[in-house]
Amino acid sequence: MALNPVTDGFLADLRALLPAACFRPADARYLSEPRGLYQGQAGCVLAPGDVFEVALILGRCHAARVGVVPYGGGTGLVGAQVMPVGSGPAPVVLSLERMTKIRALDVGDNVMIVEAGAILADVQDAAAQAGRLFPLSLASEGSCRIGGNLATNAGGVQVLRYGNARDLCLGLEAVMPDGRIWHGLKRLYKDNTGYDLRDLLIGAEGTLGVITAAALRLFPRPAQHLAAFLQIRDPGAALALLMRCQDRLPGLVSGFELIDRTGFDFLAEALPDLRRPFADPGKWMLLVEASGGTGFPLEKAMHEVLADAIEVGLVGEALVAQNEAQRQAFWAVRESIPEANRRIGAISSHDISVPLGRLPEMIAAGQACIARFGDLRINCFGHVGDGNLHYNVYPPKGQRRDRYADLREPIKQAVHDLVHGFGGSISAEHGIGRLKRADLLRYGDPAKLAMMRAIKTALDPVGIMNPGAVLAEDEGARPDPAT
Ligand SMILES: Cc1cc2nc3c(=O)[nH]c(=O)nc-3n(C[C@H](O)[C@H](O)[C@H](O)COP(=O)(O)OP(=O)(O)OC[C@H]3O[C@@H](n4cnc5c(N)ncnc54)[C@H](O)[C@@H]3O)c2cc1C
Repeated sequence: MALNPVTDGFLADLRALLPAACFRPADARYLSEPRGLYQGQAGCVLAPGDVFEVALILGRCHAARVGVVPYGGGTGLVGAQVMPVGSGPAPVVLSLERMTKIRALDVGDNVMIVEAGAILADVQDAAAQAGRLFPLSLASEGSCRIGGNLATNAGGVQVLRYGNARDLCLGLEAVMPDGRIWHGLKRLYKDNTGYDLRDLLIGAEGTLGVITAAALRLFPRPAQHLAAFLQIRDPGAALALLMRCQDRLPGLVSGFELIDRTGFDFLAEALPDLRRPFADPGKWMLLVEASGGTGFPLEKAMHEVLADAIEVGLVGEALVAQNEAQRQAFWAVRESIPEANRRIGAISSHDISVPLGRLPEMIAAGQACIARFGDLRINCFGHVGDGNLHYNVYPPKGQRRDRYADLREPIKQAVHDLVHGFGGSISAEHGIGRLKRADLLRYGDPAKLAMMRAIKTALDPVGIMNPGAVLAEDEGARPDPAT
C-alpha cells in the first residue's frame, strides 16, 4: 500500500493536538547514522512526552498513511533508524528523547519500570543507586536508549552471564501501528498466557510498533570484580580457557572478549594516547572478567585457572587488574576498538555468530577467504564467549576504503556465505535494518520469512512502521512463495 508524504495539512492537524515541545527541527543527528552509509530524510521530527502523545501520533499516521521511523539514540549500526532519501515519502521521525522517566524501581521485585527514551547509562546508574545491577552494557551506552536497545535486542559485553536485552525484559508498554496502547508492563518472571507479544516487539527494529516503556530485570550487584588481560595461543585456546573458567568459576564469568593484534595496531594508529597493556602484544588476546559475592575466593580461583592455563600453553603473558582503575583501563581498551575502527574505515563490517566450537575453524577459513581479495587487514574481535565476532575487513595500511568500494559487496557475501555454511548468523546482535535486508532474504529460512511477512501484515496492514527496514516495503503483503 503506497504511503503518503507529510503535508502541511497533516502537520497543522498535529500542531493543533500536540504541545509545541513535541516539534523538533529535523537536524542532522536524526538523519545520519554512525557508519555514514545512509542519508536519512524526515517529513518532520516529533518528540512526544508520553505514551498518549505517541498513540495520538501513530493514530494520525495510520489514518493518513504516513510512515513512522522510531528513533532512540541513533547508535544503531544497520541503518534501521534512518529512512534514506529516495526510498519513499519522507516519514515522521518519532524520537523518544523526551520520555526518559524511571517510573518505578522496586528492589524487592528486582524490577525497574523505565520509559523508552532513558539513556542506557542512566538506567545503569539508577539501578546502582538502589544497590542493584542492570547488566546490559555496550560501548554506546552513553547515547543509546533503552527502547532502541530492546528494539534491536542489543547484546554487549555481559551476555555470557546475564543474557541479551530480551532476557533482561519482563514486560513492555507499546503503541501499536493503529494507535492502540498495549499495557504489557508485567513484572512477572513466569507468564504463559498466550502468544508472547513482548518477544515479538523485542528485536523488531521498530517495524511492528513503538515501545514506550519497559519492565527491566535487576540483579544483585557483585561485591568484587576481577579482570585479566591475556595473551593467548590462538582462538582455540580462548574456547579451552572459557571452559576452564566456567568450571572453576561457575556462573561468575561475565565478560570474555577476544581482541586481535590488528585491533591493537588500530588503537595505536587512531587513538595513540590510549594506554594499552603489553609492550609486545601477541596475535590474539583476551579480556576476561569474573565477578562474585563477598564470600567467594574470586582472586584465588582466577589465579589458579590462569596458572594452569599458562602451564599447558593456552595463555602466554597474563595481566590481572590490581585495582578498579586498572580494571577500567583494561575495559577502556576494549571499548575504544569500535572508535578506532571507525577512524580507520572498514571496507566491510560483519557482526556474525557461529556455534562456539566452530569459531576457530571459522576464523581460519575467514583468513583464507579474505586473502583472495588481496592484502587486506582483518580486525576480528568481540564477544567470543557468546560465539559472536565482529569480523571487519580494512584496506592495507595507509590506504583509504573508498578505493575498495567495489569489493564491499563481494567481501560481505563471501563472509556471510562462510558463516551460513558454519550454521551461523549474519547478524548476531546489530539486527537487519536496511543494511542486511538482502542478506535476510538470501539466508533466511523461507518458512520463517513467510511468518515474518504474515506478522507484519497482521499488525501493520498499512505498512507505516519503519518502512523498508527488515523487510522490503512491499514484503509485508507478499504472499508466501510456497503457497
Ligand atoms: C560504538 C558502538 C558500540 C556498539 N556496541 C554494541 C554492542 O556491543 N552490542 C550491540 O548489540 N550493539 C552495539 N552497538 C549498536 C547500537 O548501540 C545498538 O543497536 C543499540 O541497541 C541501539 O540503540 P539506539 O537507542 O541508539 O537505537 P536507534 O539507533 O535509535 O534505533 C535502532 C532501531 O530501533 C528502533 N527503535 C528505537 N527506539 C525504538 C522504540 N522506542 N520503539 C520501537 N523501535 C525503536 C529504530 O527504529 C531502529 O530500527 C554499538 C554501536 C556503537 C556506535
